[in-house]
Amino acid sequence: MTAIRIDGKAAAQGIRDRVAALVPAFQERIGRAPGLATVLVGEDPASAVYVRSKNRSTAESGMVSFAHNLPVTTSEDDLLQLVIDLNADSQVDGILVQLPLPSQIDATRVIETIDPGKDVDGFHPVNAGRLASGLPSLVPCTPLGCLYLLKQELGDLTGLDAVIVGRSNIVGKPMAQLLLGEHCTVTIAHSRTRDLPGVVRRADIVVAAVGRAEMVRGDWIKPGATVIDVGINRVPTAEGKARLVGDIAYDEVAGVAGAISPVPGGVGPMTIAMLMRNTLVAAHRRAGLPDPEGL
Ligand code: NDP
Repeated sequence: MTAIRIDGKAAAQGIRDRVAALVPAFQERIGRAPGLATVLVGEDPASAVYVRSKNRSTAESGMVSFAHNLPVTTSEDDLLQLVIDLNADSQVDGILVQLPLPSQIDATRVIETIDPGKDVDGFHPVNAGRLASGLPSLVPCTPLGCLYLLKQELGDLTGLDAVIVGRSNIVGKPMAQLLLGEHCTVTIAHSRTRDLPGVVRRADIVVAAVGRAEMVRGDWIKPGATVIDVGINRVPTAEGKARLVGDIAYDEVAGVAGAISPVPGGVGPMTIAMLMRNTLVAAHRRAGLPDPEGL
């Protein structure tokens, strides 16, 4: 079997187009466009690239982007004060503090200071708790993007066995809650799981969010399973450069799975598209409007 290649780039473009199409109606009704504030502390090159591309997408969607770039020496108190100011700023619907933060700053304190209604990353414990309770919330962008790809590929997920490898607050745990909400039978595997290949082999849906290059092998996969690769790993090439690979051994797994998301071009573009979606949703909720349709 040769697996279908799940095209995250195309799906992400569809979401971004939909967001861009909905912004003018919001603007007309409320008198301003939705606004996203990004906060970058320090000059980590990968983080700077991510934040720039988030700002660019925001502008392309017709929304307003407020970029705050702070020096690596910023104190925790100064960052907390900025978050408090952004919470109070009526032009700002979403606040994104790019992680990781320098070691002098406690990321948990920063996340807990963000107004849950503006927490477009969905990392605040209030949003995590609401997701776990099946209440409306802002959901972390990466798992939301994975769910979108899965539903696009499979339609109704009811009753399917889903195995998520990785239990982070950012990906693994919210992914599990989302799939539970879709009536899957969910297993969360991690570094202490016994017989990981055997556990993964039971799955109709595999989501790998580990951060280990090509860890999931072809003989771990049930024939026909749908496989979503969240991992982003930089591995050296023979020419001394770096290339991106996921947590899935793509070529091996593509010979067994029914469908598979590639790296790059799979989950990555969905994450930013869902950030745009979350910003628009947060703006609607803050304005007392119903959630936008078709997102
Ligand atoms: P974390 O490091 O926070 O979590 C990794 C998880 O993998 C942990 O739960 C860990 O288990 C588990 N794990 C580690 N080694 C093994 C192993 N040998 N067997 C089984 N499980 C293992 O990572 P994140 O969740 O933040 O990210 C995961 C990957 O996804 C990374 O490559 C990251 O770059 C990528 N990512 C991609 C995004 C995108 O937009 N495409 C967005 C976010 C992340 P334990 O808890 O026991 O330590």
